[in-house]
Amino acid sequence: MRRFKRYLICVDNELNIVKNDNAFLSYLGMKELHNLSQIIPPPDIMQLQNCMFAIGYGSTNLTCFRVRAGNNNLDWFAANIEKPENPEEPIQVELSDIQSMKTGSTDSYYDKMTGLYNKNTITEYAKDLMEDKSHKPFYFFLMDIDNFKSVNDTFGHMRGDEIITEVAHIAKEIVGDNGVVGRIGGDEFMLVLEKISTEQDLRNTLMTIRKTVEEKYQNIGNNVCVTVSMGGALFPTDAMDYESMFMLADKMLYIAKTKGRNRYIFYSPLIHGKVLYDGKVMTISQNMLMNREKSNMMMGLMDKLISEGNLPCECAFEQIIKGYTIDEICVADLDGEKSYYSLQSHTGDDGEISFTHNELELPILTCGELDDKIEKAPICVIGFDLDREKNPQIAAFMKKNDLRVLVIYKMKHGKRPGYILYMNHTQSSCRLSLTDLADLTYFSHMIEISGQC
Ligand code: GH3
Ligand code: MG
Repeated sequence: MRRFKRYLICVDNELNIVKNDNAFLSYLGMKELHNLSQIIPPPDIMQLQNCMFAIGYGSTNLTCFRVRAGNNNLDWFAANIEKPENPEEPIQVELSDIQSMKTGSTDSYYDKMTGLYNKNTITEYAKDLMEDKSHKPFYFFLMDIDNFKSVNDTFGHMRGDEIITEVAHIAKEIVGDNGVVGRIGGDEFMLVLEKISTEQDLRNTLMTIRKTVEEKYQNIGNNVCVTVSMGGALFPTDAMDYESMFMLADKMLYIAKTKGRNRYIFYSPLIHGKVLYDGKVMTISQNMLMNREKSNMMMGLMDKLISEGNLPCECAFEQIIKGYTIDEICVADLDGEKSYYSLQSHTGDDGEISFTHNELELPILTCGELDDKIEKAPICVIGFDLDREKNPQIAAFMKKNDLRVLVIYKMKHGKRPGYILYMNHTQSSCRLSLTDLADLTYFSHMIEISGQC
């Protein structure tokens, strides 16, 4: 398959060439080019002029037009047009030769139903960008509508088609100039976020897509919700070429689906483990277990802790830390000011986890601020929503220990009543799901009645 060629030229407002690209001239088979109207047919040049006129200074926009090449064929080009902030400076036009077209129709590179790029076009676009070694790192995502079969079953295929199109437009509008969106299958989309390289911008974009879709279809009826799941990674940091990037994004999408849908997951070696790819099969040395594996692990722990009574709690805690991506676990007596047992995990550059023990000061256990929280439910979860004014001691503890989430279980029975604390630091992007919290409750109860700690 032919790959996009890219050229960079500069023009003024009248489309006069200010800076040429020799490779573009040789593609055109011309020695000189003075104005884009020499090579772009009149209907397309008008569209290009309108598009350039609409771009504000300091902004960019994507458009497409045909170019008459040396062989007299009309080839379609996508153009990323960037108007500098200073009106005196020339306008940059980055041209991507999408595909030669003799028919003059755009059908073969747009998806008819949604108007987005089709699978072929966006795939080539992504591959081309990945081969451009001068390009900054960027995020690559796959997005899939959740439970879409039930949308079709409930409202019919016609409404299903409308929803696919609406979701496509939501994603395209939110991504805007930061990248391109294409439809690669029934309810599946590809997002090439070529201008997004920071985690914060990525989170804002994906969260806005997720929330906008969720809110739009909140009251669609028949207990059907339309939401989207997304999975992706950063190129080239996390995957070196298109094939491995696609597989990695697909794996993250799968995790987003299994974790309950309506969410985005972007790959983090600390959370998901190292990627191993032999050119055909990709495996991730998963630090974090999938739900089914977690249930199996929990049952194994139950056997060993309760029935057989032969598992040291250190081994049990290590398994929990690895399986649920917890940073730190400690245990303290009811009136303890310090932990009497603690275990911290550290992930090395190679993804391997090691453990250390550090005694932890626990003024929160005796300050009184936890009392009613702990009595209300078997497990108490403290996170971002903590009322800092009402709980200054807890807030200070979280800050001092750099914690994003703290889960506390009170052991009321057993040989040694006390507390088990599970902690995740602010830089950890692990989110404990409701089922994870339920698992931690059962696990804590097992530790409590096993008397192993
Ligand atoms: P999941 O949350 O796991 O993605 O579940 P799902 O039901 O969305 O399953 P999946 O993504 O595997 O299936 C997508 C469905 O979308 C399959 C097919 O029935 C339907 N579909 C595919 N193309 C079209 C289309 O063009 N229009 C309509 N209305 N439905 C389509
Ligand atoms: Mg789906």
